[in-house]
Amino acid sequence: MRPFVYEQPTAISAAVAIASRFTTHDDQPTRANAQFIAGGTNLADYMKLGVAEPNRLLDLNQLKEQELRQIRVTEDGIRFGALVRMGEAADHREVKQRYPVIADSLRLAASGQIRNMASLAGNVLQRTRCEYFRETSWHCNKRVPGSGCAAMEGFNRQHAVLGASDACIATYHGDFAQALIALDAVIHAEGSRGARKIPFAKLHRQPGDTPHIETDLAADEIITAIEVPAIPWARRSLYLKIRDRESYAFALASAAVALDLEGDSVREARIALGGVATVPWRAKEGEEALRGKRLDEASASAAADAAFAGAEPRRHNAFKIDLGKRTLVRALLETRDMKV
Ligand code: SF4
Repeated sequence: MRPFVYEQPTAISAAVAIASRFTTHDDQPTRANAQFIAGGTNLADYMKLGVAEPNRLLDLNQLKEQELRQIRVTEDGIRFGALVRMGEAADHREVKQRYPVIADSLRLAASGQIRNMASLAGNVLQRTRCEYFRETSWHCNKRVPGSGCAAMEGFNRQHAVLGASDACIATYHGDFAQALIALDAVIHAEGSRGARKIPFAKLHRQPGDTPHIETDLAADEIITAIEVPAIPWARRSLYLKIRDRESYAFALASAAVALDLEGDSVREARIALGGVATVPWRAKEGEEALRGKRLDEASASAAADAAFAGAEPRRHNAFKIDLGKRTLVRALLETRDMKV
C-alpha cells in the first residue's frame, strides 16, 4: 500500500474545496489524486490491492451537517443522508413498511459488520468485483484504459450479459442500487460547481469504449443525499437475490420488483435486475410487457423474456440468462402474493 495523506474535513464545503485543490473537475473520481472515503469497505480493499492509488484521502465522517446522517420520512417520500449506514436504513421501521424492496436489498447485500460500516452513498458507488480488475497483473481496461480485457476470453462466469461492450463486461455488484433505480430515486450532489440533482438512472455509466468512467460524478463532487419519491403501492415490493451460497456472496441474478395491482391485473410494474448487468439495470421492456395484464406465470415469463431480449452471453455466463429470467418470474409472483 502506498503512503497517502489523510484528512478529516468538518464541512461539505471544506471537503469540496480540498478535493478541487488536488483534482480537476474532469478527473475521474476513482482515479483522482484526492478521493473521498466514508465506511471504507470498498476503497480500503482496493487501496490494499493496488487497484486504487489516491495520494490523499478525505474522510467524510467528521462532516458537521447532521442531515448527512438522517433518514427523513415526509409526504414526498424518503430522504436518506449520504452517511447513513446500510444497517440503519435496513432496520428503519418506515423503510421496511413503505419500501420493503429497499430494506431487503440492504439486508441481503452484506454481512452485519459491513452493513454497520458501509455508508449508503458509498454503497451505490461500489466498484466491480471482476477478478481481473482486482488483480493488477491482468489486463483491464477499467483499471488501465486501453490495456485490454482479460475477462473476455478468461473465466467470465460472474460477468454481465446486459449492458456490456467489447471493452468491458464487468458486473455491477450492488443490491441497494437495484431498488433505487426501480423506484426512480434521485441523487443529491455537491461540488465545486454547486449543488445538483441526478436521476439515479443517470448516475452509473455503461462501459462503452470508456469503462474507466464509471459514474456521472466529478472528482470534487460529494453525494449528500438519496431521495426516493413517495410511491404508496411500493409497499408491495421485494428484492430477491440468488447467489452461490446464502450469505457473503454477490448476486448471480437478482430482481427488485414493485407492483401496483388492481385485483390480479398490473396497473404499473417496476423491475430492476442485479448480478447480470454492467450497471444497475431498469428492465422497462419487462415492465411494459406486464402493463394491463393479469399477472400469472405466463405473463411473468413473457415479461422476463422481454427483460432479457438483449442479453449477450459469453463463454461461461450463458446460464445467467435463464437464471435471471427464473429469478424475475419468482420475484414477480412472490410480490403479487404479498399481504399488504
Ligand atoms: Fe477489466 Fe472490465 Fe475486463 Fe473486468 S471485464 S477485466 S473490469 S475491462
